[in-house]
This record gives sequence, C-alpha cells and structure tokens, in this order.
Amino acid sequence: MNTIALDIVTPNGTVFHDDECEIVVVNSVQGELGIMAGHVPVVAALKIGVLRAKINGVTEMFAVTDGFCEIRPNKVTAFVQAAEFAKDIDTERAMEARDRAEALLQKLQDERVDDFEARTALLRATNRLNVAKGK
Ligand code: ATP
Repeated sequence: MNTIALDIVTPNGTVFHDDECEIVVVNSVQGELGIMAGHVPVVAALKIGVLRAKINGVTEMFAVTDGFCEIRPNKVTAFVQAAEFAKDIDTERAMEARDRAEALLQKLQDERVDDFEARTALLRATNRLNVAKGK
C-alpha cells in the first residue's frame, strides 16, 4: 500500500513524524478531511480537534489546536500551536483549564462581554479531555 508522511509541527518544533501513514484525518474548518498518498496539493485551515493517523493498522490520535495543514501527494504537515499524543494528555490539567475557562465565561456572560480567548481555552481543554478518552 502507498503511504504518506506526516509531520506535526508546533512553535517548539516537530512533535511527531512518521513516513508511513496509511491515512491521516484532520479536522479542517470545512469538515473532516481524510488524506491518503496521492492527494492533490491543498492548504487547509485546521480547527481545534483530533488528528488521526493510521500507521501499521493502528490509529494514533492527537489533540491539536487550530492552525493549518499543507497537503502534498506524499506528505502532510500540520502546523499548530500545540499538539499532544492522546496518551500524553494530562487530564487533571485539562479539567482545571476547562473549569477555569467555564468560570471566566460565566463571569463574562454576567458582564455581557464576549471573550474569544476564554472560549478557545474551553475548546482546547474539552478537546484534550475528549481525545484522552479516545473520542
Ligand atoms: P493550560 O491552561 O493548562 O496551560 P492551555 O490550553 O492554555 O492549557 P496551550 O497554550 O494550548 O495550553 O499549551 C501550552 C503547552 O502545554 C503546549 O506544549 C501543550 O502541548 C501543553 N499542554 C497544555 N495542556 C496540556 C495537557 N492537558 N496535557 C498535556 N500537555 C498539555
């Protein structure tokens, strides 16, 4: 089977690389995008969500933040602010982050303020909790 390489890159460097993915599935702003070898070249904006890569029949899951993804026929590169392997997610930390964001959003709602950073912090935390649970 033809395979495709995957790089997940953050400002701190490459957090994952594999040359032999059977399929990579990303959460783009236009919906889920399944990418296999030979895909047409595309640049897609990514949402906070899960990135899946099937390697040797095993699906690996990562929690990723928003960013973008460069797709070439033989390589996918996801450029994101942060990415964690599902098994490396600290769920206590994500629960604390979720609780902080929810409390802040409640306070801001009372003050009729909309805060993008608080809403995205909540999305990052709930995404990490979902990916840690295998969702
Ligand atoms: P927190 O408030 O807990 O820092 P955050 O959403 O603000 O959460 P980020 O700015 O997205 O955190 O990430 C900062 C760094 O910490 C990144 O390297 C990211 O991979 C890591 N990180 C954040 N939350 C977790 C977590 N729950 N488990 C493992 N690594 C995490």
